[in-house]
Amino acid sequence: MNATSEKESAFKIVSNQLTEAIAAPKCHKCGCLHKTVEALSGTEAGKNELAPSLAKARSVFVPKQYDCLGCPVCYPAIAANAFVEAYPEVGAGLDLCPTEEPDARPGWPPLPGDFYVVRYGAPVAVCTLNSEALAVSLANRKPDGLAIVGTMHTENLGIERAIKNVLANPHIRFLLLCGEDTQQAVGHLPGQSLECLFRNGVDERGRINGARGRRPVLKNVSPEETRAFLNQVELVSLIGEQDEEILIERIDAVSERNPGTYAQPFAEAPVKRIQAADPTRLTLDKAGYFVIYPERRTKKLVVEHYTNQGMLDCMIEGDSTGALYAEAIERNLVTRLDHAAYLGRELARAEQSLLQGNPFVQDAAPGALLPISPKSPAETGSECGCSATQEGYCQ
Ligand code: SF4
Repeated sequence: MNATSEKESAFKIVSNQLTEAIAAPKCHKCGCLHKTVEALSGTEAGKNELAPSLAKARSVFVPKQYDCLGCPVCYPAIAANAFVEAYPEVGAGLDLCPTEEPDARPGWPPLPGDFYVVRYGAPVAVCTLNSEALAVSLANRKPDGLAIVGTMHTENLGIERAIKNVLANPHIRFLLLCGEDTQQAVGHLPGQSLECLFRNGVDERGRINGARGRRPVLKNVSPEETRAFLNQVELVSLIGEQDEEILIERIDAVSERNPGTYAQPFAEAPVKRIQAADPTRLTLDKAGYFVIYPERRTKKLVVEHYTNQGMLDCMIEGDSTGALYAEAIERNLVTRLDHAAYLGRELARAEQSLLQGNPFVQDAAPGALLPISPKSPAETGSECGCSATQEGYCQ
């Protein structure tokens, strides 16, 4: 094929693929389409032969909702690849993938992504690459050592987000790679790129040495961040592995040799551990108080609700803690969060007692009781302002 017909053929592919993207609403809000159209519009061909197709594509844009969906067939990616093949010199300088850094959020993980947070204080982050169902299954299984599990579709933004989110949690000491690496029309290879990052590092422009992906350049992380990431975590590469049991075994195995919280965190952890202390004060719930017990004859949990004047006004029975507290809340028998927590705690104890046949004694709520409206002991008949005489029933 001569150069002219090669270019004509490329224009045809670009136009056809843009037509496909125009017909697919998912593409209208995708960074891949936005970025490709913007990049091609700046070229000579984009201002001439391709101008009508690019204008049509621009007319369906809606504000971007995601950078890249990682679709098995990506129309703008095919268009961009055809263009780059026909115009290699121009194509090399084009910014064809979305590379903006998303805004960090308070808390952890600071950057959004396709992941499931399991436990902040656990040591293993798992990246299932292009295997979304695997990420969901592992998140549902919640192995003890698992901190976070998610997919990764691109070797630029995907790796950058992984770096920033890991640096924000010094508990994470291992990164387990598994699932299918992305080898689609998009041409991204995040798994291979991550392996190269750990093996070879980056060059002075942030390009991952040896990475074969479409755009393995880390623009939004500094060399210091990359170094800190490589120091903080150990890579465990099982690319291609999709067997949940094998992966959970591996998570358990690496957790066993968890070296502990990283001693030189790159940034201050966005989530701190707060030392909790027992409450010292207890405020009476104006809705009344509960008497909770397991009824062995019927094998039910029972809650009796009393007004603060000592009148029984409601009795609820059920099979589980959840059923009873949901009913109590539905009936507005709890108006304070500490009272709700107390009810849940005592119900759970009563349920255990029912299941195991152990004796049950309702505990008093912690803290010294403060009445909601001061009444004298003479009026109420008790120290705390309610008419109950048994300490455990005062909350
Ligand atoms: S990844 Fe490609 S095909 Fe998928 S929504 Fe984005 S632009 Fe469309």
